[in-house]
Amino acid sequence: MKKVVASVTKEVVALRRDFHANPELGFQEYRTAGIVEKYLQDLGIATKRIAKTGVVGLIEGCKTGPVLMLRADLDALPINEENDVPYRSKHPGIMHACGHDAHVAMLLGAAKILSNMREELSGSIKLVFQPNEEIAGALSMIEEGVLESPTVDAVMGAHVWTSISSGKIGISSGTVMAGLQIFKITVKGVGGHTGYPEAAVDPIIAACDIVQTVQRIQTREISLMKPTVIMFGSISGGSKANIIPDTVTLEGSIRTLYDDSGEENPMERLKRLAERVCTVNGCHCEVESYRENIPLINNPVMTRLAIESASHVVTPVEVIPYSCMASEDFSEFSARIPGVFVFLGTGNKAKNSHYPHHNPRFNIDEDTLPIGVEMYVRYAINFLSKMEVLQK
Ligand SMILES: [Zn+2]
Ligand SMILES: [Zn+2]
Repeated sequence: MKKVVASVTKEVVALRRDFHANPELGFQEYRTAGIVEKYLQDLGIATKRIAKTGVVGLIEGCKTGPVLMLRADLDALPINEENDVPYRSKHPGIMHACGHDAHVAMLLGAAKILSNMREELSGSIKLVFQPNEEIAGALSMIEEGVLESPTVDAVMGAHVWTSISSGKIGISSGTVMAGLQIFKITVKGVGGHTGYPEAAVDPIIAACDIVQTVQRIQTREISLMKPTVIMFGSISGGSKANIIPDTVTLEGSIRTLYDDSGEENPMERLKRLAERVCTVNGCHCEVESYRENIPLINNPVMTRLAIESASHVVTPVEVIPYSCMASEDFSEFSARIPGVFVFLGTGNKAKNSHYPHHNPRFNIDEDTLPIGVEMYVRYAINFLSKMEVLQK
């Protein structure tokens, strides 16, 4: 297997560099999708376009069996790249700062290997190249039938991860990535002159109280065994140093590693506390919120198969448990069918691949690309052979 993977590695690195130099934002991945389509068609794999720039390919094994979906995401981010590398982004303000370029290249490498193994495969592999992961593109694919014809039985996905050292693979059962809700609080007071605060109602001091008070939700109202993070990403209000403004807006996010619609319900708690803090300050507020991602939950059977497969890709001690407070729309697939999402360590300070995701200096350790290719291939083979036995 290592030899077969090594035979495609050069090509995978070249593909990744090409995607990296030519990043495209969500639902605009026309160039990337075109390359993916042509690559798959050249391998004799039938392709279909769905959800605007999404590509689906199907490798049918010679024997019948279940259908496994392997997923990679296509989109880049609105970030200006600061890396000085030969394959630096050619498009100012757009950058593959989440490693999706690596995902596409690795899945294409895996497709090449798997397409040569049709005679051994009992079942089919649906290769799914998804647009717009950063803004929940998975839902568009689901609405357009990615899980149908043929019906998908299970799904596996992977993400390159710089906070895990190169050569390690993070896999855990249960919730591995957070559910994410976004909120906006508009605090309304009465504007006036800063020399006469008694004649105004100051929304700035109320907004500051809200930022402080809602931190109590995660540390005093919800069990520490239920990880909850409430963060503010934007505060705006006011126009000049000597004017008390009418309104201040606060925007932020709530992330949880559990179903947040249950009794913990941090969003409801935030709304209640914000209103009470405003009452104390003589202001009032409006809170708007929406859900961006649901928590990503790994199925226990799929996880066991993934750990088993990973133990052959790297050594068993390099397969580590991992979960985090970031979020991913892969959760929409794994909420509908059994799924597993694995984290491919690519962090290596000596190669400058230790910067966090979404950072202008984000980069990966390219020596870990074959690990991702092998992980996709081994998992697919392992799943199809084991599931066939289970189905008999
Ligand atoms: Zn991202
Ligand atoms: Zn990502």
